[in-house]
Amino acid sequence: MEYAYHYGDPDRLYLNATNRCTNRCSFCVRAGSDGLGGALLRGAEEPDFARLREAVVRHGGPGRFREIVWCGYGEPTCRLDLIVEAAAWLRSGGAKIRLDTNGHACVIHGRDVMAELGAAVDRVSVSLNAPDRARYLQLCLPDLEQFRGRGGPPVTAAVVWDSVLDFISRAPAHFEEVQATVVGHALTPGEIDKCRSLALALGAHRFRVR
Ligand code: SF4
Repeated sequence: MEYAYHYGDPDRLYLNATNRCTNRCSFCVRAGSDGLGGALLRGAEEPDFARLREAVVRHGGPGRFREIVWCGYGEPTCRLDLIVEAAAWLRSGGAKIRLDTNGHACVIHGRDVMAELGAAVDRVSVSLNAPDRARYLQLCLPDLEQFRGRGGPPVTAAVVWDSVLDFISRAPAHFEEVQATVVGHALTPGEIDKCRSLALALGAHRFRVR
C-alpha cells in the first residue's frame, strides 16, 4: 500500500491514508483495480505521520506541489488524527490542502469535527452522488457496520444521508472552497440537474460531474 501517489497533474500529490470506508458505492474504483496512477493503493496497513512523511519526501517533499489531496482507497476522514497531525508540515512548502470526502466525518467520529477539519484543510470536495436519500442508499450502499463502536445512538441510513447534506451546508464556514460532485454515468441528466440545484442550494461554491 503506497501512501502518496500521482494521478494526472504532476503538481498535485495524492495521499492514501486508509482503505476503510463507510460506503460501498456501486461505481467505486476499488472494485475494479488495486490502485491508480501506477501506485498500489489497496492494503490494510495505515500510515502513521512518520511513514506518511517518508512517502511524501520520496515524491520530492511538500514544497514540490501546488496542491496536496487526501484521497485514496477509502474515506480519508477515518484518519482525522493523521489529517490534523500532518497539516502544518504539509502546508510548510506553500501547498494548498484538499480533502476528497464522502461527508460522513461527523457521524464516523460521533461528534462535530468540522472545525478540526477546517483548520487542517483548505479546500473540500464532497461526494453528493445523488439527488435524494433513496437514490443515495441505492448507489452508495452505506455500510452501517462501519459506524459501530463509536458511541452514541445507532447510525441509520437516514442519518448517513443527512450527514452528507449537513457537511455540505456547513462546509463554507470552515473551508475556503467547497465543491460537491456526482458520478455522471451513475445518474440520468435530470438527476444530475437536481443534484446541481441541491448542492448550490446547500451552499457549495461549485458543482462537478466526475
Ligand atoms: S465513498 Fe469513495 S471510497 Fe467509499 S465506496 Fe464510495 S467511491 Fe469508494
